Amino acid sequence: MPLYIVATPIGNLDDITFRALDILKTVDVILAEDTRHSKRLLSHYDISTPMRAFHEHNETKKTAAVINELLDGKNMALISDAGTPLISDPGYVLVSEAKKSGVDVVPAPGPSAMISAMSVSGIASDRFGFFGFLPAKQSARIKAIQAIAHIDQTAIFYESPKRILACAQDLKSVLGDERVVCFAKELTKAFETIKTDTLPVLIDYLQADDTHQKGEFVILISAIDKNNKVLGEEQLDKILPILLTEMGASKAAKLAAKITGIDKKYCYSRAIES
Ligand code: SAM
Repeated sequence: MPLYIVATPIGNLDDITFRALDILKTVDVILAEDTRHSKRLLSHYDISTPMRAFHEHNETKKTAAVINELLDGKNMALISDAGTPLISDPGYVLVSEAKKSGVDVVPAPGPSAMISAMSVSGIASDRFGFFGFLPAKQSARIKAIQAIAHIDQTAIFYESPKRILACAQDLKSVLGDERVVCFAKELTKAFETIKTDTLPVLIDYLQADDTHQKGEFVILISAIDKNNKVLGEEQLDKILPILLTEMGASKAAKLAAKITGIDKKYCYSRAIES
């Protein structure tokens, strides 16, 4: 009856644990995000366990039937196209419902692009937040970057090669020229590249050659420098009262955010406090 959540390689097929292979060989059914994609991994390891498609478009519809089969005694494994299921991948609905139904949900840990990137980025790893994919639309993306610009921990997210340059430019416009950022690309694959630098340097790298924008990316943003934060706060303390004598809280917060680089919502909360 267990439902195994099995991590698979993020590029290099050798990155799979003995236990993961054992589980994939012995379960009754493998639920795979894309059966054609996972066939390559299974054939590489001579695994002939039946596979069934289980992806974001059918997860909700299929969950109840899968849980019934598990309760009837079948053993199943969930895999995604790469890395750890549920990390920006399907599986959350199934796992939460399976647990509510009393199914034993068992992890078979292994690769994940975010953790692999973190381990080699050279950016502080003591505290971090993972934000999945940023929005594809520029206005929403900028808002999302503004929301993470002032957090006190490393921010990690995934980005598609289609938007990597636009995303880097938006990061620069919100975070400025000094913030240290890491682009970890094509991890464990032939063109693996890990660059940790300021945004102007990273943008130059992306623009230097079209191939530099190809592949899969993880982006890590270093936490805001405490000194910068203190400087920003000091600046805010000085300008907010002046702005508030000339305009309402909302407009003052908007301007203060532009001048200090501090999040607009935070500036607004300070404006209405004073
Ligand atoms: N479940 C996966 C995990 O545990 O990392 C993530 C799946 S998510 C749909 C796919 C995204 O992960 C890609 O668009 C890319 O941002 C990142 N990614 C996956 N493999 C990668 C790799 N080898 N190098 C860099 N980023 C990778």
